Amino acid sequence: MRALRLHGPRDLQMHDEPVPEPGPGDVRIRIKSVGICASDLHYYRDGRISSTVITEPLVIGHEASGVVDAVGERVTDLAPGDRVAIEPAKPCMKCEFCLSGNYNVCPGIPFFGTPPTDGCLRDYVTWPASLALKIPHQPKRLSFDEIAMLEPLAIGVHAVWLAGLEPSAGCDPVRMDCVAILGAGAVGLSVLQSLRAVGVSRVLVSDPVAERRKLALRLGADEVIDTSAVKPEDEIERLTGGHGVDIVFECAGEDDALRQACRAARVLGKVIVLGIPDGDDYTFDASSARRKQLSAVFVRRSNNTAERSIGLAVEGKVDLACLATHRFPLERTAEAMEFAIAKRDGVIRAIVAVSE
Ligand SMILES: [Zn+2]
Ligand SMILES: [Zn+2]
Repeated sequence: MRALRLHGPRDLQMHDEPVPEPGPGDVRIRIKSVGICASDLHYYRDGRISSTVITEPLVIGHEASGVVDAVGERVTDLAPGDRVAIEPAKPCMKCEFCLSGNYNVCPGIPFFGTPPTDGCLRDYVTWPASLALKIPHQPKRLSFDEIAMLEPLAIGVHAVWLAGLEPSAGCDPVRMDCVAILGAGAVGLSVLQSLRAVGVSRVLVSDPVAERRKLALRLGADEVIDTSAVKPEDEIERLTGGHGVDIVFECAGEDDALRQACRAARVLGKVIVLGIPDGDDYTFDASSARRKQLSAVFVRRSNNTAERSIGLAVEGKVDLACLATHRFPLERTAEAMEFAIAKRDGVIRAIVAVSE
């Protein structure tokens, strides 16, 4: 089978490798679509994210969909032919964080496409059956690109939950006046759609790319801010009559973004940080944060939100197709990476179609 390995910065090489056999409790999945995430771009461009460095040739990619191809012993709830989304993290289920339900912060958790765990830019993977989520055909049949986009959606749903906005089953949606999202990439737009699903009343979205702002409006943003022309914090101040917003979701990952988020939040506001900055340092506006007594939450991937994300998608409450804007075959993955780095042609997610 084909396996595309990253040997170092901007050095992807195709390998021919044996098809893996599923062990007990595992399934083998034929990979269909893989979304290229900001974290993949960091590995591709720099060979590292902060202290996590690629030292051996690694298969990257973790936003994946596929079809079950073979099942190992003791697997009873999945069968060949099932269409699945893949939970990319493999929690230990033994540590205090896993046992308390916070498996996303399990230390040293294996995660697809993060050293030393190979990811999904290859024809087949084997993975625990419990982490392959069967996608129903009803009421809406999702495409493989849409199924791959469930992973960033799950992060958006998780962030909205961390912000205290996600209602538990049977509760009325929590009313919040005004929320801002800085950055309208796949994660920012997933936050936007998750916010719309819980019924927040006003959402402002900022991004320098015109196509992304247009999409944000279509997905329910009340106002958009062109950060190539104005500072988001100034415009948010103006749009809120000098008040600031109740919650800022920082989804840009740019060096200035956390500072802008602190300035855009109102007194006693919240800042939810999802971006991954280029360097390992984020600077923030300490005076503004202190004087306003802001709370900040840093988001680590997602936790227990995959099922809710699948539900939102198959019920047609979110649009995942619009996030998968460009497609490339596996052989042209480097081109897809460069395309995404340059944010060409309004790209949200470049999808690598490993197989059709
Ligand atoms: Zn991702
Ligand atoms: Zn654990």
